[in-house]
Amino acid sequence: MAIIRHDILGEVECVRSVRSRSIRLSVKPSGKIRLSYPLFVGRRRALDFLESRVEWVVATRRKLAARQADIVRISRAEVERLRTIARRTLPAKTQMLAARFGFGYGRVTIRAARTKWGCCTSENNLSLSIFLAMLPDHLQEYVIIHELCHTVHHNHSAAFHALVDKCVEGKEKLLDRELRSYRIPVIDE
Ligand SMILES: [Zn+2]
Repeated sequence: MAIIRHDILGEVECVRSVRSRSIRLSVKPSGKIRLSYPLFVGRRRALDFLESRVEWVVATRRKLAARQADIVRISRAEVERLRTIARRTLPAKTQMLAARFGFGYGRVTIRAARTKWGCCTSENNLSLSIFLAMLPDHLQEYVIIHELCHTVHHNHSAAFHALVDKCVEGKEKLLDRELRSYRIPVIDE
């Protein structure tokens, strides 16, 4: 590994690796840049590639910085309000979607989970985050469908994704991308 200094971008970590198959450029949330390239690619060509992507790196860094600044904060009172809405709506939505697609499940628990929107246990009990109540309807449904599909495939295999994709009419990738644009809020103490 070597660190080079680029005129516009600053420090760039350069890694020439046996495992890499093509030139890859990545920007970490911290703004750090990493350029990795295979053995058969010369350093010169890798640097030319970096040069051709300078604008992309600058734009990506800006986007990442905006996302960091985008953290949503909510009060305890709002959390309780969401909990009420979630308890009233999510179990019914789960039941409706399970009936539509023919899934069976145990029970649904609603929790103030901050790391995941939902999960499914090996006994097919579903746990849904109260913060789902902040999402638009179609994304709430997407998360619930994802968890219901876990009652058939308890993993993220190709078969699992194929099932999800079938239920959402080929829009799994699109919905997933949209879901990623939402942040689970930070609770103000
Ligand atoms: Zn999953």
